[in-house]
Amino acid sequence: MTTTIAAAPRIAVGGFMLESNSHAPVSTRAEFEANVLLAGDDLAADLDAAAPRSPRTILGFARGMDGSGPWTRLPTLLAAVGASGPCDQAFFDWVLAETLARLRAAGPLDGVFLSLHGAADATGDVDPDGTLLRAVRALVGPRVPIVATLDLHANVGAAMVREADVLVAYRTNPHVDMWERGDDCARHLRAMLGGMRPHAAFRKLPLAAPSVTQGTDPGSPYRDIIDFGQSFVGTGGVIDVSVLSGFTSGDTPKNGMSVIATAEDPARAEAVAQAVAEHAWSERARFVPRLIDLARATQRARMTGADPAAPSLLFADVADNPGGGGRGNTTWILEAFHAAGVEGCVIGPFYDPALAAEAHALGVGATFQVRFNRDETQDFSRPFAAPGRVVALCDGVVVGRRGIGKGRTLRLGPSALVAVGGIQVVVGSIRQQASDPGYFEMLGVDLARIRSLVVKSRGHFRAAFDEIFANERILEVDVPGLTTPVLSRVAWRRMPRPIYPLDPDTRWPAER
Ligand SMILES: [Zn+2]
Repeated sequence: MTTTIAAAPRIAVGGFMLESNSHAPVSTRAEFEANVLLAGDDLAADLDAAAPRSPRTILGFARGMDGSGPWTRLPTLLAAVGASGPCDQAFFDWVLAETLARLRAAGPLDGVFLSLHGAADATGDVDPDGTLLRAVRALVGPRVPIVATLDLHANVGAAMVREADVLVAYRTNPHVDMWERGDDCARHLRAMLGGMRPHAAFRKLPLAAPSVTQGTDPGSPYRDIIDFGQSFVGTGGVIDVSVLSGFTSGDTPKNGMSVIATAEDPARAEAVAQAVAEHAWSERARFVPRLIDLARATQRARMTGADPAAPSLLFADVADNPGGGGRGNTTWILEAFHAAGVEGCVIGPFYDPALAAEAHALGVGATFQVRFNRDETQDFSRPFAAPGRVVALCDGVVVGRRGIGKGRTLRLGPSALVAVGGIQVVVGSIRQQASDPGYFEMLGVDLARIRSLVVKSRGHFRAAFDEIFANERILEVDVPGLTTPVLSRVAWRRMPRPIYPLDPDTRWPAER
């Protein structure tokens, strides 16, 4: 039996990816189906497709395994949504049962790869990622390697670290290294099949860095901490150091920055985890948001719109980021820009299936009273209406051109470009953040010719629009929303306290 295993190890691949904003509406099966819900042969076909729907982590893992020797690929279940609310418990229970059933049906296994986000919450389980890993471990036993990728926004709990052998987090935000981290997992899995036995050390910091401060550009605090961790990799048997900033809006007992150091020598892993955690803690005062208020943003947009010679500007609606559980449909910026007569502005993607359907029914060129949020009940999503016109329509299917979704099939659902005053709004039927220029270009928007762009996104837009908007032309606007980086405005329910910077005097390690 050992010989057969060495010839073509039997590796199960699957995943569960959800980033849960505790304050957002419950994430349902329908939402997963609209994004990625693939099993067995369908998952296998997608992994081999020219423009797959699967995330780049699992693609990178599969190609890494392909390139490092023979293996038998056994696709199980992949359920992935960018970000939403807590997962409907019945649906998560189904994901768990289906994953286990497919693992069982796959027969004897030599390894398991899971593409996880790591910041999921469910309506009846505060740690579904830990629950999934625990169940998979119980099924395959202690000797079969379990390796997994994690989003750097994962809210890591001790169970996740205990049940997996190697957890590898992204090191870039925007996440442009998902493929490489999947490939890392392939390498670690091959090493484990060859007899390597890793130990993972875990440190948790009471540090909830506001979302907009978690970028990894050179010179940023988070980049410096990640680089410090990387300086240990390859020394003294250290195979991976992952620093996870966490997903603040998760509002769970697992909130806070995490450090996972994985090494062959347990003592070495513990020492490195401790050193990186201490370094991160010493840098905590650098995680400060820099936001512009709505009045000043409106003035900048109006002036830029009126002056064709001025550089165009990008306004990030960071508090309404669908990639963080926002609904993608708050109207503060739209209303203010419209009232001020801003010209040459494009906003999107705005999530409003009813408005998109109405635009499709009316047709291109139709003039009508454009009513945003007629069906939405979420507190932050108030209605707004103005006379306007249908500019363009499309089915909302586009292959990602640039950034985190590059090369993947992206779906905004039936979509419309509607004009209200001097503003054009990309309206979609599936909630997506502005992570790709394709969401605008598929409706004929020439991003190089507009005066200003308002994106529903916290930070992933940076990898998509950097060819036009350098950092100095990007302004993060302070308006209300489910993903506000102004932590003092949120009614926290389960966040562990004290936590920095909400509680400025927080100490770590806690005083005895
Ligand atoms: Zn993330």
